[in-house]
Amino acid sequence: MRDIESLLYEDVQVNPSNAPHFILGEEQIDIWAEPYAQYHSRTPVDYVRNRILEMEKKGQDPFPDIVGKTKEKELVKTALFSGSPILFRGEKGYGKTTFSKSIAKLLPEKLIAVKGCKIYDDPIHPSCFSCKHKVLNQEAIEVTWVPTVWVRIPGDPMLTTRQLVGGISIQKIREGYDLDHPEVFIPGRAIKANRGVGYFDELGALPTSLQTLLHELFEEHQVTTTEGDIVPFKISTLELASTNPANYRGTSPIKEPLLDRMEAIDIGPPETLSEEVEIGLRNMYVVKALKKDPKFPVWHAKILARVIRFARDEAESSTAKKVQSHPSCRGTIKLFDHVKSRALRSGREVPLIADYGEQFEMVELALGGRLEIEYGVKQTKREIIQELLTEAVRVTCKEYYDRMPPATFEAFYKEIMSKAQRFDGEAYLPISKETADNLQGSSMIVGVLGEVFDGKIDDKETFLSALEMALHSVSLCLTKYAEKRGPGYILREMTASEA
Ligand SMILES: [Zn+2]
Repeated sequence: MRDIESLLYEDVQVNPSNAPHFILGEEQIDIWAEPYAQYHSRTPVDYVRNRILEMEKKGQDPFPDIVGKTKEKELVKTALFSGSPILFRGEKGYGKTTFSKSIAKLLPEKLIAVKGCKIYDDPIHPSCFSCKHKVLNQEAIEVTWVPTVWVRIPGDPMLTTRQLVGGISIQKIREGYDLDHPEVFIPGRAIKANRGVGYFDELGALPTSLQTLLHELFEEHQVTTTEGDIVPFKISTLELASTNPANYRGTSPIKEPLLDRMEAIDIGPPETLSEEVEIGLRNMYVVKALKKDPKFPVWHAKILARVIRFARDEAESSTAKKVQSHPSCRGTIKLFDHVKSRALRSGREVPLIADYGEQFEMVELALGGRLEIEYGVKQTKREIIQELLTEAVRVTCKEYYDRMPPATFEAFYKEIMSKAQRFDGEAYLPISKETADNLQGSSMIVGVLGEVFDGKIDDKETFLSALEMALHSVSLCLTKYAEKRGPGYILREMTASEA
């Protein structure tokens, strides 16, 4: 038996000629043969590299969960290929965590580990003293399947060494304590990420002393304790981290030596409206939690995503200048959720404009806490939100109005008018189920709506929503002929020349 002290620092790795027997369940297995060969002896970086190569050969995107971000994906692949830890830098809500999770998905779902090991040690190349000892001294070792881990390590200024690295007592080992004794070794979060992904969320917020421990861990795979003991931890982890941009409020700087050991990749807001819409739709509660079809027409998605983009980007809207903190994609997702909820509670799957709330309360709910007004702006937050919504509705309606086919527009309008109710000499068309029943039979109306809204009108509720959006567009762009009143529109006679 080896001297325990030297075992602590020794790199232990076995091969088919000197390995103990491996027992899985009740049976002895040949760990170097199928179906086990793929699940040990490799580092997370090995797995990720192989998987990326495999997927690219098939023309597949290794990160299908990430919408857009082509350039960032390339950078991530490059950094992963060279085994570098990655630092995702960007404001909250733009998918830093999603990116780190989608990297973890490139790892196998399960691995073979030494049974009972607190850090899921590889039976061929263990890290902890206890497993090293077993591998070298036992004739047979029990192994087991374990899930691949993704460990979030929160950037908490109060985080202790014990929570980050763990409790390791070299002294107790020297005193002859059993290696599995809980007082000898309790792994912290960074060590628990062994063979998986360690995600340091808000890395800069970690106390400086812990950041120092980390760069030693990242680079040299060892930790020097405050007592001066060197603890060898050849853990095999894919280290990822996130931070806010340097000028962002509440951002603590990451120490230079640590920064120098990572590749920083900027993660910004979605570049295009359609990416923003896609992110919103994919992450809606009904989709993510309930696994349902969102049943959320793209016209509503565009209006609501624009509300957020107009608040965020001065290039898109001058209102953004009045906004201090910019709402992220979470704002978009919540806007979709709230409008959808209101529709569901009204007994419909597909939202109508009324579902924004009579006083656009749903929009206010999603934005209230996510938007701060620039100092010195005279308007209230509520007025700013209304301004954003009005502009988003106007721009989106204009887009659809411009798509109305000039050749058939007049006939389309007349057909709708012919189905309207008459009140005091005015034609009024309520946006209601009855209206949908009455108008859906008209192939003229269905045809034009299909053309304007890309043919995605597959059911009665979507038809009604599209009809409403068409009339709303007319009411905003040809104000003389349509006017919103209550839950419907007043329609006025149109002459050929004016249309
Ligand atoms: Zn172990």
